[in-house]
Amino acid sequence: MNDGNGRALWIRHPLAALVPDGVDARGGLLVRDGVIEAVIAAGETPAEPHDVFDASRHVVLPGLINTHHHFYQTLTRAHPAAINRELFDWLKALYPLWARLTPDHLRIATRLALTELMLSGVTCASDHHYVFPDGLDEAMDIQAGEAAALGMRIVLNRGSMNLSVRDGGLPPDSVVQDADTILADCERVIGRHHDPAPGAMTQVALAPCSPFSVTRELMAETAALAGRCGCALHTHLAETFDENAFCEATYGCRPVDYLEETGWLTDRTWLAHGIHFNDEEMARLGRAGVGVCHCPTSNMVLASGQCRTRELEAAGVAVGLGVDGSASNDSSNLMEGVRHALMIGRLTYDASLTHLDALRWATEGSARCLGRSDIGTIAPGRQADLALFTLDELRFSGAHDPLAALVLCGAHRADRVMIAGRWTVEDGAPVGVDIAALRHAHGQAARAFMDG
Ligand SMILES: [Zn+2]
Repeated sequence: MNDGNGRALWIRHPLAALVPDGVDARGGLLVRDGVIEAVIAAGETPAEPHDVFDASRHVVLPGLINTHHHFYQTLTRAHPAAINRELFDWLKALYPLWARLTPDHLRIATRLALTELMLSGVTCASDHHYVFPDGLDEAMDIQAGEAAALGMRIVLNRGSMNLSVRDGGLPPDSVVQDADTILADCERVIGRHHDPAPGAMTQVALAPCSPFSVTRELMAETAALAGRCGCALHTHLAETFDENAFCEATYGCRPVDYLEETGWLTDRTWLAHGIHFNDEEMARLGRAGVGVCHCPTSNMVLASGQCRTRELEAAGVAVGLGVDGSASNDSSNLMEGVRHALMIGRLTYDASLTHLDALRWATEGSARCLGRSDIGTIAPGRQADLALFTLDELRFSGAHDPLAALVLCGAHRADRVMIAGRWTVEDGAPVGVDIAALRHAHGQAARAFMDG
């Protein structure tokens, strides 16, 4: 344990570690007071007294950062009303079910998703919550509480929808709020939960859901509020051809023009999906410093398309990784997402796209999307957020390159996870979580969403 007692922990002699090019980390890492104090080269030993964790069975990664999710959707996985559909029909099938969401449902769904993410090596999770039926006014507070209880670093996305079917949008009237209510709650949530300081455990982003569920006015007012409050902006964009067509029909422009008109072409913005951009649009996003969260698993499940990660990065866009909501994944495993990013990347490009690209997206790329320079990399001064995997399972037997093995052989579960210097997963189990009880409670909650 190393959570502020002043004594250092030497994570000694890892099997391998994902560190910046040219850094020798064969000796391991020194962690003190929640921060990486030193990276230790082969043959070196920390001078001061310290505790030791023997990592000789472990591959050490910077903690993975999940930049797009909808935790509540864990309650509607593999739902017969929605499987085998593409985005708009999938949403129309699920919106009426999601309108039933209660505080207790959201609490257990959040706990389950955070636990799953953590077990896959995630140390910082960003959740986009945009469903606020009557009675769920404290959704962000519920999520903040669950993350704090598990020790997870979180970005709470105060999502919103105010454009329903009666006004030409996609969602039913039962799941939208009015703009004044939304903006007032955004301010409340920022005031209560947003910590702008380096090392923050909880931050807030403002996150209108999508062009087809939010009015142009709310997009613009949200961008202005984020500017005044110094927090990030997030939304779904360019996920499907249907969405591009909706923008052209409703707003008379393509999605990136819409972003520009509403004040969203800024470096505080990161977008989920970002699939259907042309070259000129990618250049504009890069110049503005906008990030894109690539969600390969969800994009494959919903047959949405292939994100042009290589062109986006060449244009200067930060590319991060996300699992997306659990009704279009249908799990919360970011290591699996890393593997899928490699696979779909190979299909989009060629074999020069490697496991190191996919791991980079899930770590430093995701950190850039969230506007954070304190996480995502193993280096002195960064937060001690780490994911340690062993190669002891059958699936790894015969593997040679340890980092490649994690991705190519399909690592699914971290053996150890450290967040801000505290172990939150030990021996493959989340600290302080009764998995059987969690599964039971979540299954009970999911029954409320059974029929459609
Ligand atoms: Zn999403």
